Amino acid sequence: MNSCSCGRSPINACVGWGNLKEEEYLLSSILWAKKKLRETDKVSMNRRAKQ
Ligand SMILES: [Zn+2]
Repeated sequence: MNSCSCGRSPINACVGWGNLKEEEYLLSSILWAKKKLRETDKVSMNRRAKQ
C-alpha cells in the first residue's frame, strides 16, 4: 500500500500533494473537500430516491 509520508494527503494513500507549493496544496485541499461534499450529496439523494 502506498501510504502518505508527506502528511498532506486527505486519504491513506499519497496523492502527490507533498510536491505542491503551499498555495497549490491549499487549493487542492479545497477542491478535494468540494468534490467530497458533492459525492456525499449525491449518495444521500440516491438514498432518498430509493425510499
Ligand atoms: Zn504524500
